[in-house]
Amino acid sequence: MNTLTVHNPATGAQIAELPADDAASVAAKARRARAAQPAWAAVPMAERKACITRFRAGIVAELDALAAVMTRETGKPLKMSRNELNGLLGRIDFFLAEVGGATGTQTVFNEGGMTEQIEHTPLGVVANISAWNYPWFVGGNVFIPALLTGNAVLYKPSEYAAMSGLAMARLLHAAGVPQDVFIPLIGGGAVGAALMEQKIDGLFFTGSHATGAKIAQALGPRLVKLQLELGGKDPTYVSEDANVKNAAESLADGAMYNTGQSCCSVERIYVHEKIYDAFVTAFLETVKTFKTGDPMSEDTYIGAITRAPQLDVLDAQVADAKAKGATLLAGGKRGAGPGNWYEPTVFGNVNHSMELMREESFGPLIGIQKVSGDAEAVKLMNDTRYGLTAGMFTPDEARAKALLAQVSAGSVYWNCCDRVSPRLPWSGYGDSGVGLTLSTYGIQTFTRPKAWHLRQA
Ligand code: NAD
Repeated sequence: MNTLTVHNPATGAQIAELPADDAASVAAKARRARAAQPAWAAVPMAERKACITRFRAGIVAELDALAAVMTRETGKPLKMSRNELNGLLGRIDFFLAEVGGATGTQTVFNEGGMTEQIEHTPLGVVANISAWNYPWFVGGNVFIPALLTGNAVLYKPSEYAAMSGLAMARLLHAAGVPQDVFIPLIGGGAVGAALMEQKIDGLFFTGSHATGAKIAQALGPRLVKLQLELGGKDPTYVSEDANVKNAAESLADGAMYNTGQSCCSVERIYVHEKIYDAFVTAFLETVKTFKTGDPMSEDTYIGAITRAPQLDVLDAQVADAKAKGATLLAGGKRGAGPGNWYEPTVFGNVNHSMELMREESFGPLIGIQKVSGDAEAVKLMNDTRYGLTAGMFTPDEARAKALLAQVSAGSVYWNCCDRVSPRLPWSGYGDSGVGLTLSTYGIQTFTRPKAWHLRQA
């Protein structure tokens, strides 16, 4: 039997050794899911909804303990773990409220004895390979609507959030979802790769562009439905008429929340030259208030870096920025161990020759660049291979809408940032991915629309 060793990234200590999958067990689990799916699809929607409602109650009942597990295995500050679980409740409520309307059979034509209908049938067996940074959010965005619409789910949590993944499975099973309808697979990339080799009807992936591209290459010839939710290098522009203090406070939080390890973290800031100095001062004031420390402490804001190799990425971006003339305004190096730590780091005087303005940092590192106005801001915001989110701070709604309409990003923000809503589709342009989750589209995506042509004899 394989095992997965889990470490606490805040201390380096081993916290668990979990039984893990291998190629044979992945294949057996895929066969079990295939056999179980038709009976689950035949369960009335009301009963499937009742299971998810009980799952929600299970989360509420154990919320503090689940948050503590997430914090221990990812280094996420405890308050933010609780925020994630509380936020998931709202997403579950949305899915429960909307699934009936989004997937009910629609009659789109009915004349002269001819009826045309669209029926939403489940995809079948859905594979979900997930990330660690918001394990409950990104997992739940997939497996909750997938289960509600009658699919069986093979769920591979990240190896950095496997204990949370097992908790999801335990609570789903306790809520009445059959053991073979939701099956967790434990392990790293090799287990994900073994999962892709199975007969599956959809692959829903959240993770890095590098892994997503490998998955697309492997699955392309098999014509399996594929969704990829990948990384970003999300920009925000602060114009000269913005409320400097509000913008600085919001953007410092957007850049550093979850220790900068959010797919939609603010990763590039462009500030109009007229307010640049005032903005930088206010931004640094806010960053100074962010307390780094034990993720289990209630007042910790900056937690651990979940994956140790990311420290090398941060070091390399810092060294590159310094070598190319950026001004280091705060932080700039690792924190003392044990565990994986990085100081909240801010650079001014940056430009697009620097890696920190081009490639995902995924840590508490941000560059602030001075711009001459809207035209330059748009040009720089679009100078990226990614396109997850983008934002603008200004009191002028018309100006923000005109500017953001020109920016290639799946989500755009006016006077806010780092925000996800269950009511809106979550998707990316370019290397940020293909497909979407959330919104009613993110429910329908787990179904195959079947066209019925019905003529009365
Ligand atoms: P990752 O690509 O390293 O891993 C993601 C998952 O893929 C893990 O479960 C991993 O075990 C698995 N995997 C690794 N190699 C594989 C292979 N060859 N075949 C199949 N599976 C394989 O990403 P990560 O470090 O877990 O997550 C961080 C990344 O996720 C960041 O880039 C972040 O921006 C992105 N992300 C995006 C969103 C979004 O909604 N767009 C949300 C969260 C995270």
